[in-house]
Amino acid sequence: METREALTKLKGVGPKTAEAFHRLRIDTVGELLSYLPRRYEMYAPEVPIASLTEGRTATVLGTFANLPGVVRTSRGSLLTGKFRDASGTITVRWFNRPYLRKMISVAKYVLLRGRVARDRRERYLLQPEMYTPEQYRELMKTLRPVYGLTSGLTTNAIAKAVRAALDNCEIREKIPATVLKDTGLMRIKDALEEAHFPKNEETTREAMRRLAFDEFFGFLLSVRNLREQTETLPNTSPVACSGFANRLIESLPYELTGAQKRAWGEIAADLRGNHPMQRLLQGDVGSGKTVIAELVLASSAEAGYQACLMVPTEVLAKQHFAELSKRLGALGITVGLLTGSTTAAQRREILAGAVSGELQVLVGTHALFQEGVSFAHLGAVVVDEQHRFGVEQRRALSDKGSTPHVLLMSATPIPRTLAMMLYADLDISILDEMPANRKKIKTAVVDAGYRPKAYHFLAEHIAAGEQAYVICPLIEASDGLDAENVEDYAECLSEELPDARIATLHGRMSAKEKTAVMEAFARRETDILVSTTVIEVGIDVANATVIMIEDAERFGLAQLHQLRGRVGRGEKQSYCILVQGNDSADAKERLSVLQTATDGYAIAEKDLSLRGPGDFFGIRQSGEDIFRIADPIRDADILGMAKRAVTSLSASEYAKAVKQCLAETKESVVY
Ligand code: ADP
Ligand code: MG
Repeated sequence: METREALTKLKGVGPKTAEAFHRLRIDTVGELLSYLPRRYEMYAPEVPIASLTEGRTATVLGTFANLPGVVRTSRGSLLTGKFRDASGTITVRWFNRPYLRKMISVAKYVLLRGRVARDRRERYLLQPEMYTPEQYRELMKTLRPVYGLTSGLTTNAIAKAVRAALDNCEIREKIPATVLKDTGLMRIKDALEEAHFPKNEETTREAMRRLAFDEFFGFLLSVRNLREQTETLPNTSPVACSGFANRLIESLPYELTGAQKRAWGEIAADLRGNHPMQRLLQGDVGSGKTVIAELVLASSAEAGYQACLMVPTEVLAKQHFAELSKRLGALGITVGLLTGSTTAAQRREILAGAVSGELQVLVGTHALFQEGVSFAHLGAVVVDEQHRFGVEQRRALSDKGSTPHVLLMSATPIPRTLAMMLYADLDISILDEMPANRKKIKTAVVDAGYRPKAYHFLAEHIAAGEQAYVICPLIEASDGLDAENVEDYAECLSEELPDARIATLHGRMSAKEKTAVMEAFARRETDILVSTTVIEVGIDVANATVIMIEDAERFGLAQLHQLRGRVGRGEKQSYCILVQGNDSADAKERLSVLQTATDGYAIAEKDLSLRGPGDFFGIRQSGEDIFRIADPIRDADILGMAKRAVTSLSASEYAKAVKQCLAETKESVVY
């Protein structure tokens, strides 16, 4: 069986399961195999009962003080008892598991693993799993894959489908044999086997290194390939960039920074140059990239072409649309909006305007590249806050007869040395200067004991009409790791702050749900948004002034800096509270970098120098999201390896690798 076959060809995958997989953008066997676990859950050693923390999942070792009794409640049966070790005692509650009673003997030591909950009366272990010491020792050696799920798809269903794929599919090596030999990396088939069905920590780490290598390798190949292709293409949409651009610049209430002027100069030269532009504009959060995008869109329209702006979320699309309609509208430019929730009638109108050329600027999400969208003459594409711009999209656009200029804008600060490796084949402009009027975001590193004060602080700012974010690493408690999760946290927070309107946001919600939550927040209908890192790029609310990040030590500094950039977008003083979830002195020192440093690039450099060897089992370090498992900061050594490999390929190896790597899946080719 080939990797490009449809998922339904696998035994055990029916139309319903395939439908659920489709929601995760998995349609082929190859895409399934490359859908790797987000992380691995490991069973931690037991802790003393006296040290249990509420809301956390933990394991304790001890004995039952008495044989648990079963009582009837409105929710069914409740089995409850007292469990103790040398340090203390805790109540255990199991709902609807009366049969467990027979398995308990007061004389025997057992381990209980569960979440520590509390009601008005007491703290208790909720629905814990029970193990013998031998069983638990075995479990501690294993890793359990944690996949991103969607409704109708369980971890088991994914594992079953992957098993069938690994057993029946022929998985070919994509990287040349010489590279495999020089790097000593694991073979792809073994790496996939290990990644999905981990034997132990060491081999899984090896597997992840191989898979990270593939991502870098494919990326570097595609960038090099793209460069070679565009170098031979003529500029079909030459733009002079004078009238409209100058008028826009003059109408600004501020002066462009030196960096903005320089970047615009470089871009303007590309637009009138001999070949289509392929440029990356990198600039820290708040460095003023949007105005540069506006200049590109306006100039393109003035020269008689169309242009589009693509953004990662619907909320951002709407925000940009409102802004552009005002500013470009003043120049007589027609602006349209196209997203996943555009109604059929509106869509027809937009598409007609795009085909006829009447619509000059189109703002939207990925919906821009869906079938049926075609332009009279597309001159430029600006892609904001994401680098993912696959071949599919490129093809969708170039099919329409033109090869548009492409400008990618990214706020992800990565160290210059790494940027040079990743983007050496692209043109880069960097906004390394902040607008002068910026207020510094006041940042504090605190421990969990500070929470009551922090909540008081939140309450004060909410009372003053401002809004706040709270970031947690996990979505729900069952996500395993011992860290705060959005669902429980929001519940606790609403008890602490009964007057605050609290909403939650996380990646397991549908795009529609996410949009609704973010829009309500932007309209000030909620006060606090408790969220995972999905808010990183999706939202721009000037009225939000406080961001509190729980278990901050679990994030990379660069990512924390990105998150922090969600506040400080308006006139008011903003604050960032980093709550350290452990008591490691190293972590405290690392986090304290953010108290003084404000420059994303300096922070990313610091992250690189402070970071230990690759930890594939934790949370990603950089906010960089072009890669699924690779992380340029965490895996800097592998990136270097991939760079050397791509550079040293012979001409024939290169041609073959391009063909093999770039043909795979819709996701694998990014640029
Ligand atoms: P980002 O690079 O994160 O996309 P934006 O383009 O959203 O940043 O700019 C952030 C804010 O800074 C906006 O309110 C914008 O109007 C303002 N801004 C942009 N350039 C300047 C400048 N040169 N001087 C002052 N304010 C600026
Ligand atoms: Mg922006």
